[in-house]
Amino acid sequence: MDKQIITKLGYNFGFRDGFCDECGGRCCTGTSGYIWISEDEAQKAASFLLMDIQSFADAYLFAAKGRLSIREKEYNGAHACIFFDEKEKNCSIYDVRPTQCRTFPFWDYFKTHNEEALNECPALITL
Ligand code: SF4
Repeated sequence: MDKQIITKLGYNFGFRDGFCDECGGRCCTGTSGYIWISEDEAQKAASFLLMDIQSFADAYLFAAKGRLSIREKEYNGAHACIFFDEKEKNCSIYDVRPTQCRTFPFWDYFKTHNEEALNECPALITL
C-alpha cells in the first residue's frame, strides 16, 4: 500500500508517513543545533523519565538566547540529541518530544530553504 503523503499550505514538499522507521534518525543527528523545549514540555519529559524538573534540567538542558535547549552528545563524528537512542535509532522520549520535533519538517525556515529539508529527510518529496 502507498504511504500517505502529508502536505501543508506554503510548503512545496510533502512528507511520506511511515518513513521514520527506515531513516535512522537523521533529524535528531548531524549538525549541531538548538533543540528548543518549553518549560511545560520539560516538565512533561521529566515526568516521563520519572525525574524531578531540577534534576532533568541539570542533566539534559541548557539555557541559550533566553530559552531552553536540549543538550547534544557526540555521535558518529558529529552530534545527536541527548535523547537519541543510538541502538534503536529513534527518540527515547518520543511520546513527550518537544514541539520543535513534532512539527519537523514543517518549520517556517523550510518554507524558503526546502532544499535543506529535502537533503535531511528521506521521507520528503518535492510536490
Ligand atoms: S527530543 Fe527526540 S525527536 Fe527531538 S531531537 Fe531529541 S531525539 Fe530527536
